[in-house]
Amino acid sequence: MIEMVRIILDSITKKFDDFIALRNISLKIEDKEFMALLGPSGSGKSTLLYTIAGIYKPTGGRIYFGDRDITDIPPKDRNVGLVFQNWALYPHMKVFDNIAFPLELRKVPRQEITVKVREVARMLHIEDLLDRYPWQLSGGQQQRVAIARALVKEPDVLLLDEPLSNLDALLRIEVRAELKRLQKELGITAIYVTHDQAEALAMADRIAVIREGKILQVGTPDDVYYRPKYRFVGGFLGNPPMNFVDAEVDAENGYLNVYGSRIPVPAQYRELVEKLGIKEVLLGFRPHDAEVLREKREGLAGEVYSFEPLGREQIVTVSVDGAFVKVFAPEGEHFSFGEKVTVELREDRIVLFDKKTEKALEFLV
Ligand code: ATP
Repeated sequence: MIEMVRIILDSITKKFDDFIALRNISLKIEDKEFMALLGPSGSGKSTLLYTIAGIYKPTGGRIYFGDRDITDIPPKDRNVGLVFQNWALYPHMKVFDNIAFPLELRKVPRQEITVKVREVARMLHIEDLLDRYPWQLSGGQQQRVAIARALVKEPDVLLLDEPLSNLDALLRIEVRAELKRLQKELGITAIYVTHDQAEALAMADRIAVIREGKILQVGTPDDVYYRPKYRFVGGFLGNPPMNFVDAEVDAENGYLNVYGSRIPVPAQYRELVEKLGIKEVLLGFRPHDAEVLREKREGLAGEVYSFEPLGREQIVTVSVDGAFVKVFAPEGEHFSFGEKVTVELREDRIVLFDKKTEKALEFLV
């Protein structure tokens, strides 16, 4: 049985010479939790993962597995399973030996190795492939072998660095569902690095959004998707991402002026805008939290710039005084270029950000 651990990162900093790759990162990952580290290329996700693995030593801060301070413990004594982006199987070894390798290193008796390799291979549905060489496998199968190799030594923690990025789009979706299930079945604490927001939303219990070596927000997929702390988070998650338009608060009359239109200050923000006295804001809303209407109603007045059918629905791009917003509309509704429309917003889903700091108003108090 795999021992379960809670991971605590306490003020981790990592410098490469003068370059600061990680800035004061504190994060708790619970037992059996699936935590995604999500951020753009170069944000420090892999550096953080390798610091947890022990491959990098932090410049500052401590790392705990359970109650144990493991900051100074070498990687081989940390009992972590690592799965990389390029699976790096040994080409001259059969699948069996590839999976068995970590146990061979530990001088585990041959008979025990056979039992363990077969067991993990069964879990990953690759028991029929044990006699093949890596080049005789598809990408998806190779990736399973790499995961099997990481799991066979019964690690306390599974660390994955973009493990699906070499797979084609369909296979990615299939394997991500399996991987999510396997992680829960094994009850193993997992940390998963990805730049793919859909993957993070689909798989993780919680997501840590990272930019420029800093954690901007940690939360459930719902938290980061619907209640982004920063404009960056709203804009990084979702496809298409959150829309942002400049708005000016008219607190006295309870309105937001958005270019030539005005809409009531959303109920959830009424007290807050008065309290903060902020004038310049960014109004954020998701493409499925708005509707494109032909009749003139309360909303953002604009005209249809473009429309893209996607099968079940379509994305309509509306020009609102020169700013473009994207809104989902049902299939079969016909739009024409330049048509005058109103974008009606779902009030309770609107997020207002301070224009200067780009932080959501509710996080300013
Ligand atoms: P990607 O998705 O592209 O792998 P990432 O978020 O995982 O990006 P990291 O690989 O952690 O980013 O890199 C973070 C920053 O640290 C980058 O600017 C990178 O150039 C720098 N960096 C990473 N490893 C080293 C190293 N060994 N020496 C110097 N700089 C490094």
